Amino acid sequence: MTESSSQGLAADPGNIDPMSFSGEYLAERPPMAVPAKQNEEAKQLRILLVEDDALLGDGIRAGLKLADYAADWVRDGETARLALADHDYDACVLDLGLPKKDGLAVLKELRARGSTLPVLILTARDTHADKIGGLDAGADDYLTKPFDLGELQARLRALIRRAAGAATPTLEHAGVRLDPASKRVTRDGQPVTLSAREYALLRDLLTHKSQLRTRAQLEDSLYAWGAEVESNTVEVYIHHLRKKLGSEFIRTVRGFGYQLGEKAGRETDDGEAPG
Ligand code: CA
Repeated sequence: MTESSSQGLAADPGNIDPMSFSGEYLAERPPMAVPAKQNEEAKQLRILLVEDDALLGDGIRAGLKLADYAADWVRDGETARLALADHDYDACVLDLGLPKKDGLAVLKELRARGSTLPVLILTARDTHADKIGGLDAGADDYLTKPFDLGELQARLRALIRRAAGAATPTLEHAGVRLDPASKRVTRDGQPVTLSAREYALLRDLLTHKSQLRTRAQLEDSLYAWGAEVESNTVEVYIHHLRKKLGSEFIRTVRGFGYQLGEKAGRETDDGEAPG
């Protein structure tokens, strides 16, 4: 099967139900229409797409965006290697036949340095030997072209959910709980409504609990490459999170960045301590 046979599929938004991928934390999203700008706001999980076929790559990236992923698209194995070394991704969709460096070589190198990043191989090579080779090299899943975009998204969700850890799927700190599978956030058992960027920031901080996170690292968790980054964006969303989760929940480490605090603290920056 040629790669071009699946291009129509991937590029057709009729194959995607955007609402089925919207998290419930997106309270600001209108219930019906999903305008481009709103969808930009929905970015959170970050996927590296490695695909050298221009039309197919474009279609997959469009589908990933509709499913609320931040997708970085690179077209050769060497750029993929650099991207994987430099950025934190939640999953990688990896073609095998690539210029400069073969997809399998990229995968083997990734695993050799101990990365457990979920990798879904996407390729026109559909022999059993190819599949076994891919899985042996450390792939978590395998999809043969042509494929259904909905199936790709479902498999990605499963991979990311599995990677989040079946035993302890929930991230927790100082009474704040974040469930990556349902994207629900609670504070002392009460639901907290977060925007997509607030959620992405909180998820980063909880994932790197007890570590100091620089502003650059937090920006990295908010945006895919090429997205507009305002200079005070992280500060603005940290401010929002403190209002919702307590002023002492996130500590500012002057000159370095941010870290989770010992406790949730007061309700808002300027309010009285409750009780
Ligand atoms: Ca290819």
